Amino acid sequence: MLTKARILSLLFSCMLFSTSALAAQVYHLRLAESWPPNFPIFGESTKTFKQQVEALSGGRLRITIHAKNKHKAPFGIFDMVRSGQYDMGHSASYYWKGKDPNTLYFTTMPFGMTAPEQYAWFYHGGGMQLMEKVYDKYGLLSFLGGNTGNQMGGWFQKEINSVADLQGLKMRIPGFAGEVLAKLGAKPTNIPAGELYTALERRTIDALEWVGPSLDLRMGFHKIAPYYYTGWHEPATELQFLINRKKFASLPDDLQAILRVAMQSAAHDMYARSYHESAMNWAKIRQEYPQVQIRTFPKPVMDALRAANEQLLAERAAQDPLAKEIIASQQAYLQKVRAWTRISDQAYLNALSE
Ligand code: CA
Repeated sequence: MLTKARILSLLFSCMLFSTSALAAQVYHLRLAESWPPNFPIFGESTKTFKQQVEALSGGRLRITIHAKNKHKAPFGIFDMVRSGQYDMGHSASYYWKGKDPNTLYFTTMPFGMTAPEQYAWFYHGGGMQLMEKVYDKYGLLSFLGGNTGNQMGGWFQKEINSVADLQGLKMRIPGFAGEVLAKLGAKPTNIPAGELYTALERRTIDALEWVGPSLDLRMGFHKIAPYYYTGWHEPATELQFLINRKKFASLPDDLQAILRVAMQSAAHDMYARSYHESAMNWAKIRQEYPQVQIRTFPKPVMDALRAANEQLLAERAAQDPLAKEIIASQQAYLQKVRAWTRISDQAYLNALSE
């Protein structure tokens, strides 16, 4: 006959068993990234993310990363995560502008916010909520995936001295900036990282932008193009973790929290790493490749780009209420946050510059 103590002891064993069974359940997520295998900085951020997830979850959540060579579709991440072929992706939101024009506002915008300003907007100024609104209808969740910092304007075979020089210019430049250039007569195109060098070398394109010293140096562009322009088009390029919403919802709460923390941490780490690599590589370029000539677009070119940018934004806002909401949010935030940047970082740097 079972005594009360025996029943309690049996119940306790059952509870222990079910707790340990739960603890032992291991979840797997498959992540596709847009980058070639072992790609520096971008690829390191997914590895950092994987390590953190696996350590924080005590091995209960495992991540498998497939680089471009496995899935063969660097610009197919959106579809593969949406369909469930992959659970997650690491890419850039502005690559999906052909699927939904409103995705492009969540990477960086020409003449827009710098990285600290944009992080403030995403996390505390309503940016994350707007991004969620855009991705919701596709069954996708989008999180920040790491920032490159301010990008260089690109490598050019010829100098750009006037707006007329943009006419017919074949340039690899994705996102909204490509559309701005198209408005001034250029012919923008997007080409995956692995094909950039050959395209510029064979003059399939006249110019390209990739990132900045952090990643441009190892691509070798300085060997095939003499002019390196300062930026206007991608002041704060933020990559993206995409997750299939159903898959995310199927995970226990603690693993969801671990994913969120690990993505945010990997993103922040990528920004720091990008800044570091840019500083180190810029020093190297100055020392080892003095033939590289730094240029800044002349003021009339910058003014024309800016005017085209504003015209395009106004057109977008007039066409689509959600675009209007996102653009209004970014512009209102930029106005406030930039006033602070000017009196803080900019005033500090100006005071030290002469
Ligand atoms: Ca770029």
